[in-house]
Amino acid sequence: MLSSIKIGKIAGIEIGVHWSWLFIFGLITFSFADKEGLLHEFYPEWSTAQRWVVAAIVAAIFFTSILLHELSHSLVAKAKGLPVKGITLFVFGGVSNLGREAQSAAEEFQVAIVGPLTSLAIGALFAILWAALRVPAPQASGIAGYLAFINGVIAAFNMLPGFPLDGGRVFRSIVWARNRNLLAATRTAARTGEGVAYLLMAGGAIQFVTVNPIGGVWMFLIGLFLRNASAQSYEQLVVQTTLHGLTAADVARTDYTPIPPDLTMAQLVGDYMLSGHGRYYPVVAGEELLGLVTLTDAQRMPREAWPTTSVYKAMTPFERLHTVSPQEDALKVLQIMGEADVNQVPVVDGRLLRGVVTRADILRLIQVRRAVAVEG
Ligand SMILES: [Zn+2]
Repeated sequence: MLSSIKIGKIAGIEIGVHWSWLFIFGLITFSFADKEGLLHEFYPEWSTAQRWVVAAIVAAIFFTSILLHELSHSLVAKAKGLPVKGITLFVFGGVSNLGREAQSAAEEFQVAIVGPLTSLAIGALFAILWAALRVPAPQASGIAGYLAFINGVIAAFNMLPGFPLDGGRVFRSIVWARNRNLLAATRTAARTGEGVAYLLMAGGAIQFVTVNPIGGVWMFLIGLFLRNASAQSYEQLVVQTTLHGLTAADVARTDYTPIPPDLTMAQLVGDYMLSGHGRYYPVVAGEELLGLVTLTDAQRMPREAWPTTSVYKAMTPFERLHTVSPQEDALKVLQIMGEADVNQVPVVDGRLLRGVVTRADILRLIQVRRAVAVEG
């Protein structure tokens, strides 16, 4: 996940700010407070300090608008029973870290659509303020108008039909509801997202060479960001969806070769590894797992020591092994292997060995299931 600065909790939801947001905050404040900015135009009599203070307040309102947008996603998700880990505000808005994906198309639709609707509602409030203040306080009305406009832009941008933007999620939920295939729907939404991203990048490039170089760069960067995010979230979802509902016991293999603890390393290499029985060997006494010895353990040890060292001495003992229970989610097992940087984990019931999950097996499974699910 994005690294961020934690700023507090609202309704049990942790709020964080990515460093890129601080940059945007500064940029918005500057663009308002600057001599060329909106405030100087509205209030030429104001001092520089006055302009900066008001500019920071406008930026803070902008910040709050985006926070409310994200909060609305999180609150609806919570109401639907989805675990919400927190919100991270970053350069182009925010992300809600949900513990898992929506379980149904309807659920996803509601969680996604509420964000842009919230931005639209905030925009409408500022539009009313803008209209109400036009005569009595034209300058304040101008600021309200700006905030109405920017919230409208946030709603519109987020409704672009590119996954993982809200619009992409709404789009995906509609495709999902129609074809009842989450993976295929995600692929469609991700592809549309890529298309939208390329359009933005092309639009940015055209703007850059014609009317507005800075705006062009921004548009191009947003397109680039969307393209990457779209591809990434698709990959993530493919893994999540294909492994959904599978446990460690489901994906474990049982055709490993258990070895006794008193075997020497020379015997292990000569009789087992060289005859192609595999790269890892559970060391067992009866059914009880004592440890795991791998090709790497043999490679690390000087050859001269092989005949006199037992596998029991060379193995990684049970206490230091990463193991999982048969009921553990297959997705979690994959995460554990990634974090521990190991290629296999024993599946144990207490200390009894029930199987071994290998990274290669899981990746192969993902490939096959992806092919079947998307085509099927
Ligand atoms: Zn949103």
